[in-house]
Amino acid sequence: MGAQRDNSGDLDGGGTAEQINLRGLSTDIASAMSGQEDVTHILQTCADTIVRRLQGVFTKIWILDAETTLKLAASAGDSAWLRGELTPSFVGYPLMVGSHVIGVIATFSPRPLDGDTVATLSGIADRVAIGLDRRGVGRRLYLQDRAIAASSNGIVITDPRLPDNPIIYTNSGFERMTGYEQSEIISFNCRFLQSGDRDQEGIHELRQAIAERRGTQVVLRNYRKDGTLFYNELTLSPVFDDEGELINFIGIQSDITARRLAEQERDELLSRVEEALAVRDRFISFASHELRTPITVIKGHAQLMARRKDVRENEHLLRQLGQIDRQAAAMDSMISSLLDVSRIESGQMSFLIADFDLCRVVQEVVEEMSVSRLDFTLDLDLGDCGELPVHGDEVRIRQVVGNLISNAIKYSREKREARVLVRREDSRAVVSVQDWGIGIPEDQHARVFGLYFRADNAAEGGRTGLGLGLHISRNIIEAHSGSLWFDSTPGEGSTFHFSLPVIG
Ligand code: ADP
Repeated sequence: MGAQRDNSGDLDGGGTAEQINLRGLSTDIASAMSGQEDVTHILQTCADTIVRRLQGVFTKIWILDAETTLKLAASAGDSAWLRGELTPSFVGYPLMVGSHVIGVIATFSPRPLDGDTVATLSGIADRVAIGLDRRGVGRRLYLQDRAIAASSNGIVITDPRLPDNPIIYTNSGFERMTGYEQSEIISFNCRFLQSGDRDQEGIHELRQAIAERRGTQVVLRNYRKDGTLFYNELTLSPVFDDEGELINFIGIQSDITARRLAEQERDELLSRVEEALAVRDRFISFASHELRTPITVIKGHAQLMARRKDVRENEHLLRQLGQIDRQAAAMDSMISSLLDVSRIESGQMSFLIADFDLCRVVQEVVEEMSVSRLDFTLDLDLGDCGELPVHGDEVRIRQVVGNLISNAIKYSREKREARVLVRREDSRAVVSVQDWGIGIPEDQHARVFGLYFRADNAAEGGRTGLGLGLHISRNIIEAHSGSLWFDSTPGEGSTFHFSLPVIG
């Protein structure tokens, strides 16, 4: 058992009657502790029993409450003699749960207490402590204490009633975090953690919160005992007593250095990426505009020349001019794609929305492309759906249909043919472009709509491309609340489908 002070003088054996009395005391206490009453009642019974069995004594029992202050829980016997000349005998025992004190039991006697009585009272203190523990008294405190001590967060408690708001408690987490031992810092103000680094936004907020007696959360640059910097995320909470007096500040600290450094690194990377993207977008937009002008001039001259009588009669020259025209058009379309991607990336792709008939649009695109690609057969199947009114940007939807058809042509093989099918499926219009071309390797299907994606077999036979068309098309279709998908078998062909909501 813990601390005890025994002022008993001569030990009086007390004889058998005294021993019987002590055994009766132990039994009475045991039965009181096994009762079903509330804790206060049980403790009062214990105090009464001690007083009844040990004539002339008085007994008091204190219990620690949640605020860790001792509160008198039971008292019995007459203490009037204490004010007399007599020097009393006194035995006091802490009530222990594990290594945690949850209360105190004390007995004062006007006559010396013998060894048997002292030993019996010690046994009673143990029994009472066990009984209280079983009823949960102190366990919460004990657990709280354990939790605080074991917390990996640093915990610091200060007393603002003392001059300069000094530290009165730190846990081992605080010691691990700062490198300071409790004995080195108790009674100091926490500011030593900032070293000379005092001009911090967090410190100003902290000072204000303390002055205003309120809680706050700040991140501080703090320094360990060895001088190394760490970022301390501090949550400060004021504690008030029943009268509303501010009695403590509790600070919970987390070392967020790793997170802070990772954030800084991420921010730096992000700003470098943003810078690089801005440079890229500026370049694409500048280059596209600058390239467009000469291309338009080249195309214009090629077309003008092709109309001249002497040129029309020169088949070789006509073919060359046709080639110039086609290459210039291809270049123009690549520039448009680059511009579109930069618009998508910067969220600046805009749409001119109106109602239009999707059947008509698909039909027109197929006709235009059939005229320019006489070596290829485009089979159009409009079924019996009549009109398919949709709501969107007609030019952009044309672009998607055109892109799917030119891919069907570009990636075709011996069978120079593609089939375009338009139909209505419930409330959606579905357009499919089917070819019998090279197909897409299965392991690459998931990446088909990615930026700059070209399948391994795409470049076979000198097929050129930037890998932008499908990415742009999917963005356009999704901006119209539609979907774009495909089926493809390598060596057999592909079918690309898109659907759009039909209005009405
Ligand atoms: P590009 O054709 O300019 O490379 P796209 O974005 O239009 O770019 O297409 C991306 C890739 O998808 C192509 O490089 C090709 O590998 C594959 N692909 C697209 N359409 C077809 C198709 N009809 N048949 C086979 N492969 C295709």
